[in-house]
Amino acid sequence: MQRVVVIGGGIAGIQASLDLADAGFEVHLVEKSPSIGGHMAQLDKTFPTNDCSMCILSPKMINCADHERIKLHTYSEVESVTGEFPKFKVKIKEKARYIDLERCTGCEDCVAKCPVKVPSEFEAGLAVRKAVYLPFPQAVPRKVTIDADHCRMIKEKKCGVCKKVCKAGAVDYEQKDTTIELNASAVVVATGFDLMDASSVLQYGLGHCKDVVTSLQLERILCASGPSSGHLARPSDGSEPKRLAFVQCVGSRDAKWHEYCSSVCCMYATKESILAREHVPDIESTIFYMDMRATGKGFQEFVSRAKSAYGVRYIRARPSSVQPGEGGKGVLVSYETRGPAGEPVTEEFDLLVLCPALVPSRGTAELAKLLNIKLDSDSFVRTSGLLRPIDSPRKGVLACGFASGPMDIPDSVSQASAVAARVAELLAQGSG
Ligand SMILES: Cc1cc2nc3c(=O)[nH]c(=O)nc-3n(C[C@H](O)[C@H](O)[C@H](O)COP(=O)(O)OP(=O)(O)OC[C@H]3O[C@@H](n4cnc5c(N)ncnc54)[C@H](O)[C@@H]3O)c2cc1C
Repeated sequence: MQRVVVIGGGIAGIQASLDLADAGFEVHLVEKSPSIGGHMAQLDKTFPTNDCSMCILSPKMINCADHERIKLHTYSEVESVTGEFPKFKVKIKEKARYIDLERCTGCEDCVAKCPVKVPSEFEAGLAVRKAVYLPFPQAVPRKVTIDADHCRMIKEKKCGVCKKVCKAGAVDYEQKDTTIELNASAVVVATGFDLMDASSVLQYGLGHCKDVVTSLQLERILCASGPSSGHLARPSDGSEPKRLAFVQCVGSRDAKWHEYCSSVCCMYATKESILAREHVPDIESTIFYMDMRATGKGFQEFVSRAKSAYGVRYIRARPSSVQPGEGGKGVLVSYETRGPAGEPVTEEFDLLVLCPALVPSRGTAELAKLLNIKLDSDSFVRTSGLLRPIDSPRKGVLACGFASGPMDIPDSVSQASAVAARVAELLAQGSG
């Protein structure tokens, strides 16, 4: 059986792993966080159909964990890749979780008793998690992890309550990182993206206006399993916003930050506006945009429906400043209307949502170095041109999903399936 290592367990890496495993390959899926799922697990619904994101993703995550030819390495990273196609040697570091995965039942008794609270990455900082935690309820594997940077027992030898309450005897403060080495015929990079830190675009107020949030935070606010159980509330006073605005291209298509288009923001802002209206029937949504990029199947119709059926207002303008509203509640957005008689306008909104540039995930440059592959001018994985969109120039190293450039879920899935076919093709051709 030939073996393939897939790096990154978002929807692209999951789909590539499933297709490769179904085609008969042994797959090792390496994910740096404690669970597979990637950003899709954080989304409430998905455009343009507004299907529940987790309902589509969760079965695939479970299939991955149950597949006899897929081995999951979560909380793990690739340390080195040597050799050449089709005989790579891959070293994978499995970080200590301080939990025996064979024993942990995912009961979360330890989580309930842990006294340490830190911001939850999964809830985009809107809620807290414990130092011992399950990242989200549908996590795969459904096993807890002790965050050594915050655990009092590991840092100061004080506490130990999680070990005391664990009936399964799964807590092991002495656990060490381990490294395993594998032979692999091919390597797939599916490391996805991160959101740019929108607080560095100072004029938009993130960090100093309470009622400015990011688009990913709004996904969590809208989600029934999110920090406010799906109740749309603004951070300053918990009231229901009636006037909602989005600013597109925060750091995208901007020579000062990132010149490229992040590709999915026009559509997800439209989706979030529609969802907000479904939560608060009398909410009014405004989207400040540069150009409308609605190029996929059914996308333009989705935008048209947002305007006609949900009253979403699209204003072609780039706001120049955002200030806190009266008493620190809401925001005042200044922008200029278009046309020869462009006029300065300042409008008040209850909640402002920023759509930040989506950038290659942290560590992509280091990973590229150890894989001996190149990045493009926007720091995504460079692929071999128009007719080889998933091959890196290094034979046997392929890329799919957001790792190679901005793309939505359907395109990430298509690329992932293409990667599986390409690996089979390359190996059928042999090393020649
Ligand atoms: C607010 C928002 C809303 C969106 N809404 C929609 C929508 O409605 N419909 C739609 O089609 N698209 C939507 N998108 C886009 C969608 O999220 C992406 O298309 C999709 O997540 C890309 O999947 P991916 O697997 O390539 O990347 P990711 O989802 O980013 O997954 C990458 C995975 O790789 C892991 N990883 C990263 N680096 C390493 C490493 N060095 N080693 C091991 N693992 C690593 C990460 O932890 C992560 O699990 C939205 C995006 C945002 C920001």
